[in-house]
Amino acid sequence: MRYISTRGQAPALTFEQAMMTGLATDGGLYVPETVPTLTADQIAEMAGQSYEDIAFTVMRPFIGDTFTDQEFRDMIARAYAGFGHVARAPLVQIAPNHFLLELFHGPTLAFKDFAMQLIGQMFQASLTRSGNRITIVGATSGDTGSAAIEAFRGLDNVDVFILFPHGRVSEVQRRQMTTPIEANVHALAMDGDFDDCQAMLKDMFNNTDFREGVRLAGVNSINWGRVLAQVVYYFSSAVSLGAPHREVSFTVPTGNFGDIFAGYIAKQMGLPIKDLVVATNQNDILHRTLETGAYTKEGVTPSISPSMDIQVSSNFERALFDAYGRDGETVAAQMDDLKSGGFKISQGAYQYLRDTFLSGRASEDETSAAITRYLAEHGELLCPHSAVGVDVAEDHLGDTPMITLATAHPAKFPDAVNAATSISPPLPARMADLYDRDERVTRVVRDFDAVSTLIKDRIAQ
Ligand SMILES: *Cc1c(COP(=O)(O)O)cnc(C)c1O
Repeated sequence: MRYISTRGQAPALTFEQAMMTGLATDGGLYVPETVPTLTADQIAEMAGQSYEDIAFTVMRPFIGDTFTDQEFRDMIARAYAGFGHVARAPLVQIAPNHFLLELFHGPTLAFKDFAMQLIGQMFQASLTRSGNRITIVGATSGDTGSAAIEAFRGLDNVDVFILFPHGRVSEVQRRQMTTPIEANVHALAMDGDFDDCQAMLKDMFNNTDFREGVRLAGVNSINWGRVLAQVVYYFSSAVSLGAPHREVSFTVPTGNFGDIFAGYIAKQMGLPIKDLVVATNQNDILHRTLETGAYTKEGVTPSISPSMDIQVSSNFERALFDAYGRDGETVAAQMDDLKSGGFKISQGAYQYLRDTFLSGRASEDETSAAITRYLAEHGELLCPHSAVGVDVAEDHLGDTPMITLATAHPAKFPDAVNAATSISPPLPARMADLYDRDERVTRVVRDFDAVSTLIKDRIAQ
């Protein structure tokens, strides 16, 4: 199994190399050269199996000989052992033919734990083998940073630094990043907003001396390993509703397009998925693109579902690559046009995307109203991201069962939930003392020399 870049100019890599590299050297994203398929019988056998067994079957064909079967099974077991629900991704019914896939039982209460916990295990195994030590630096608006810290805390051969915008993440998100006690965890609160943090991270990757000096690695949402781990719960949930004998549809609250792209991969692997519905908040570049065929940047307007507040959607490039018949040169040219504001998708590629994805958008008022309505009429307390999902899903309900992904626990976004329901959702018992733990955080200014020196000093200790 080899991985190729969406821009066609970088060398093909193995699974392990693609995972450790992240972004391709031509600026593109890695995708499998061919997507392996599972037979209907193989999918049928998943009925009644544990999440871990399904995970092994789904992901095994993608990893080549990077790990032995036993190593890979052990990593999967360790990755999900810390989840607060033995089903890992339980499915609950919320309305006739409408189901909620609860992806918030991991250690940081958001779906990113599914990928990050496994990535932590895979990085660890790979680094132990090579004897290398790396420095992971991430920029976060909240969920990615806490999931990364939780996945890498206490692991050998890794230091993890997370840059977050000072004063602009929720208290739960901040505490999840600042309370781990392990010496390899470094939470950095930077002056500025999320875009400033991302710009700083980009400068680090573009500075060859720094990048090579600290052996910089990234685990942002374009990492193929992360996408792959998310394919699993499409299978586990669809099978529990009757796949492969019955079709299902999915609605996915979407920001960087990683999660919905994993659904697209599941479909290519042979899972009978009818509709894949992209649900956006008011930052609706994806919905607009699917409606008009033009991918144009607008500014970001902060919303009550902040993990979906994006200006451009990085993983969309992977879908575009397929839409253009895997023509990397065209993708590279379009991505170049994006620098000056946007591009128009060609007729053929646009048709491919329209045939593959449906979409909808929920305004702030609609999101808040959905939180209120789902508690009153369905007995379900939703986080604002999941509320965007169910609100959009309602426009696509029909004879095919609809599964909406619940991407975070309501207690992670208590302000929006409280405003809509007057309820302050409690944290799960296993982390109820989060507000009492000591915090450890370093304030940094938005200055490359200052931040890069701090990182070099810390890892030298
Ligand atoms: C990251 C995130 C999303 C968006 O997921 P993408 O893979 O970026 O589309 C949605 N909801 C929550 C809670 C998230 O943390």
